[in-house]
Amino acid sequence: MKFRAFKDLPIASKVRALTLFSATVALVITCVTIVITDTAAFRQQLVADVAGAAELTGYNSSAALVFEDETAAARILDSLSAKPEVIGAGLFTAEGQILAEYTRPSESPDRQLLASAESKALAFAALEGEKSDAFTDFLKVARPIVRDGEVIGSILVISTMDRMLTEVQRTILVTISALLISVVLAFFLSRRMQHLLVDPVLAIAEKIQRLAETGDMSIRVERQSDDEVGTLAAGFNRMITELQGRAAALAEYQQELESRVEQRTKELSAANDVLTKTLQEAEDAREAAEVASRAKSEFLARMSHEIRTPMNGVLGMTEILHGTDLDKSQKHFADIIEGSARSLLDVINDILDFSKIEAGKLTVKSEPFDLNSVVESVAVMFAEPAHSKGIELICAVEPGTQKQLIGDPLRLRQILVNLVGNAIKFTDEGEVSLRISSAKTDNGMSQLAFSVQDTGVGIPVEDQARVFDSFSQVDESSSRGHGGTGLGLAIAKELAVLMGGDLTLESEPGRGTEFTLSLTLEHSPIQDPSSHGTSVSLHGRRILIVDDSKTNLEILRHQLQDCGAIVTEACDGPAAIEAARDASLRKECLDVVILDVHMPGMDGLEAAKAMRADDAIDNMPIITLSSATDDFSSTVTRELNIRATLAKPVLAETLVQTIADVFKVTQMTEEKTEQVRDESPSVARVLLAEDNVVNQEVARQILHSFGCDVVIVENGFEAIDALVAEDFDMILMDFHMPKMDGLEATKEIRSREDLPAQKRSIPIVAVTANAMEGDRTQCIDAGMNDYLSKPYKITDLRDMVTRWTSVSEKADASVDLPAAGQQA
Ligand code: ADP
Repeated sequence: MKFRAFKDLPIASKVRALTLFSATVALVITCVTIVITDTAAFRQQLVADVAGAAELTGYNSSAALVFEDETAAARILDSLSAKPEVIGAGLFTAEGQILAEYTRPSESPDRQLLASAESKALAFAALEGEKSDAFTDFLKVARPIVRDGEVIGSILVISTMDRMLTEVQRTILVTISALLISVVLAFFLSRRMQHLLVDPVLAIAEKIQRLAETGDMSIRVERQSDDEVGTLAAGFNRMITELQGRAAALAEYQQELESRVEQRTKELSAANDVLTKTLQEAEDAREAAEVASRAKSEFLARMSHEIRTPMNGVLGMTEILHGTDLDKSQKHFADIIEGSARSLLDVINDILDFSKIEAGKLTVKSEPFDLNSVVESVAVMFAEPAHSKGIELICAVEPGTQKQLIGDPLRLRQILVNLVGNAIKFTDEGEVSLRISSAKTDNGMSQLAFSVQDTGVGIPVEDQARVFDSFSQVDESSSRGHGGTGLGLAIAKELAVLMGGDLTLESEPGRGTEFTLSLTLEHSPIQDPSSHGTSVSLHGRRILIVDDSKTNLEILRHQLQDCGAIVTEACDGPAAIEAARDASLRKECLDVVILDVHMPGMDGLEAAKAMRADDAIDNMPIITLSSATDDFSSTVTRELNIRATLAKPVLAETLVQTIADVFKVTQMTEEKTEQVRDESPSVARVLLAEDNVVNQEVARQILHSFGCDVVIVENGFEAIDALVAEDFDMILMDFHMPKMDGLEATKEIRSREDLPAQKRSIPIVAVTANAMEGDRTQCIDAGMNDYLSKPYKITDLRDMVTRWTSVSEKADASVDLPAAGQQA
């Protein structure tokens, strides 16, 4: 703190303090040195004086000592009284006896001083010839007394040090006085010198202060000397000059900067104007694009409707045509019409989905569904195309996979249809397999992998990523041969991602392709009793499976072993016969043979015939695996004991159930099913509200083929009038009709007070070509019970009529109809 305080002192005070401090230190050192030197000199002189007196007195007393003349000795000692500082003296004989002594009368303690041990020791030392001094409170000097070279005694003289002390005190006094005078002098000198040293520095400081306060660059310091302060002053002046130059440059630069900023601001403002204009244009363009996009969506929806309506006519009429008597070429033509119409419908569906993806409107549903039904419907759909290409189509759901799930069954089916369709399209020989396996089942969720593998042309590595792009086909020339829009995989991938999963592919050109759809789906709490097929036990049953496809054999083996069956495999007809013969020989009777009909060399039927002809083989039941189109005459089936024919690909449940049926395990169920199937809607009276003449004809023909009675009206008003006038079991209501559309008519019927309750609650099924999202909701909201999308198949319409006419038969008027959502 003190040091800091000193640092903060004005420079003048500092110079003064330092000068004074240095001078004082130097003077003090000098004074102390003088005092010490003088004291030593005084002491030396005192010792010399006293020693001289002792030696002289000793010499004078030598005769008195020889003659031991005490009186003479005392008289000689008394001569010491001339020296005022000597306070005592003693003369000692050679034996150490004191011969005479002298004491200054005024000093009482001196006698003890002579008798003290120290005094005696000094006297005895002198007797030995030594000259010894002692310097304590007093100065004691002992000297030997020598006569004729022999020590005859000694003398001890004691002196005070008063004289020496007085001298020392005087010296101290003088030096202190000189010190004080010097300090005072130094003080005044330093004051004077301070002006010389400090004033120029202060002058510079004051100029700096002024410069800082006023910013006046004209300030200069006058150089008064050539020392450091002079250099400082010159440096200060140079610095100011430099600063002045810099300030001028800075001002110039600032000026330039300001003009540049002004220029830039002008440019920016111009750019901003352009940007605002561009933004406005972009905004206008966006609005125009939105309007265009809306127009596009509406156009697509309308076009889809417009195309679907005549498509319904084409497809419906073709289906009816198939039911009539056709010769071979007519049937061929009808097949081509149907195939082309279905391809066209697929293209329309793809384009519609694609437009939904573009508009970000593609959504997936979450509803309970049965995995088996989805897989089965895909299998059924492709069984015939695969068979006609000579490709083995295999479908397998891994045992233990949860089948009651929550998801979007229609979209899942759409993906699988695309993948399996492509696989068959791009495979010329070998097999296509659709396998579903469950990687992990946890917390009511299943991680499922849907793998579609083929042995077709494969996809080159460089094209693999591209196939998921819209409108992209690997080898356009070959793809053109196969048809397709190049949209299927893009839509499938988009759907997979929307479902929270992914669609990936692995392929080796020339060897085949595997697409894997990975999905994590929630388990449905609703358990469908019909899905408990795998719980049917085939425990201990011996089954021979015969198929040329190793994959199919492997799948069949797994499916059957899972139910406890003992499985034997054979890869062709002769091997099957051999295995059957072997079993019969060992008395291990086979319970059933599952026989693939289409095998190279000996086919299934030939193998069956050979087995039946062989006496060594038991007549066990046979189940054939064949394509959907294979039709065996009843004689053949009876003769060969073919109990059932399964269309390939066959799912585990169907296989096991069929075997169980063969074992008469589920005969009752089968009979019941038949009974239900017989409950055709033959007595139903259907009111059809439809404005399109072709579609009227299609529906009429189909409904008549079921034995239904049909009344046709052309708009909503006529429908209501017909309902008032007559009784119906259900209404098939077109969406778009002139005068009053289907929605309005339905609302009117549901709210007509004058109608009896039974008529008010008549089942109404919407039949529409609108396939846009929200149409179903609109129908349900309007009070319709169900929804049939055009173009429909005969079976779709039959199911719909059966479902709703049987409901109405059973439902009494007061009972609420089932919520339409549950029928979806
Ligand atoms: P497309 O309707 O043209 O079949 P996709 O998007 O479904 O459109 O398929 C795009 C292209 O991917 C096909 O044109 C074909 O080149 C290729 N591709 C798809 N699946 C397979 C497959 N299993 N084997 C070989 N190539 C395939």
